[in-house]
Amino acid sequence: MSFVYADYNASAPLRPEAAEAMNAALRVTGNPSSIHSAGRATRRILEDARESVASAVGARVENVVFTSGATEALHLALRGARAASVIVSATEHDACFAEAIALGAKVAPVTRGGEVDLAALQAILRDAAKPALVAVMLANNETGIVQPIARIASLVREAGGLLLVDAAQALGRMAVSIGDLDASYLVVSSHKIGGPQGIGALVLAPGAPFAAMHAGGGQERGRRPGTENIAAAAGFGAAAAVAARDVEVAAVRLAMRRDVFEQDLPRDAIVFGRDSVRLPNTSLFALPGVRAETAVIALDLAGVAVSSGAACSSGKVRESRVLKAMGVDEALAKSALRVSFGWNSTTEDAERAAAAVAKLVRAEAA
Ligand code: PLP
Repeated sequence: MSFVYADYNASAPLRPEAAEAMNAALRVTGNPSSIHSAGRATRRILEDARESVASAVGARVENVVFTSGATEALHLALRGARAASVIVSATEHDACFAEAIALGAKVAPVTRGGEVDLAALQAILRDAAKPALVAVMLANNETGIVQPIARIASLVREAGGLLLVDAAQALGRMAVSIGDLDASYLVVSSHKIGGPQGIGALVLAPGAPFAAMHAGGGQERGRRPGTENIAAAAGFGAAAAVAARDVEVAAVRLAMRRDVFEQDLPRDAIVFGRDSVRLPNTSLFALPGVRAETAVIALDLAGVAVSSGAACSSGKVRESRVLKAMGVDEALAKSALRVSFGWNSTTEDAERAAAAVAKLVRAEAA
């Protein structure tokens, strides 16, 4: 029986459209900065990919900066905005959180429902040096909880600040538009949507302040030097085009898979963020009394790939910072498991994943 892959939030399988675009791009020789015909051929591939990514997030094509992934894009925005202060939400991905803290960021708390506490954010903004850069993700990688970005954006605007939105997990699962979000900076990642790993983009709103972190050959309009990764850009562009085109249907299909999974979970399973607005593909849940690391290994042996909601390092499971910020009990947080579906998931995958979880719980109880 085939393997059930239910860890799309970690990395999605490559879409066939992306593989095809990469294969074709790998056969083209040339540096996109060269002016001869070979250079122009690779330049065309790069700019077509840029256009696809721009169109997927409603941006101007010249404002899409290719990077090595969402992590680098977040760092470029956090540093390149040259803001007088930085504010970061308590549930940001480490890719953003750790760098923001290194820059001296203040942390905006979240409610028990996982949303940024708007009154607390307003108070932090009031005291922060201006302009402040506020970093908030559109959707959380662990819980799938979607932030009320419109309300956050209006607080940030009122305070004369700049908004950085990490949409790495949102793209392809809900509508993403830099203009509608009223963000100055938007970050996306290719491998979360079925493109290749190692590429992402920083998207700038028109007029957003930006200073490059490195000087170099002037690529990406001087914003991120170094010869561009043409094959990866081609794959990212192809994945972004399909993900954006199919997003409405995908959201409905994904929610059906997620709901099938959650309905089939053992009765005492606790689903985090169930009452909040969530991504349609993500389910973070705890099986009381079952250790997450044991469960991940047992499920893997049963042919189901899921992720632990807690952070594991040197064999020790640490409580998830996200669940801690939401006030979840430490013991419960340590048993959190994440299932995340995507473009190639089937109803059978959802049923088999839930059945494997139920079998694991029965085995633990025996
Ligand atoms: N932001 C979020 C919300 C993520 O889930 C991830 C990846 O897990 C990242 C940023 C980092 O993305 P990348 O792997 O492209 O650097």
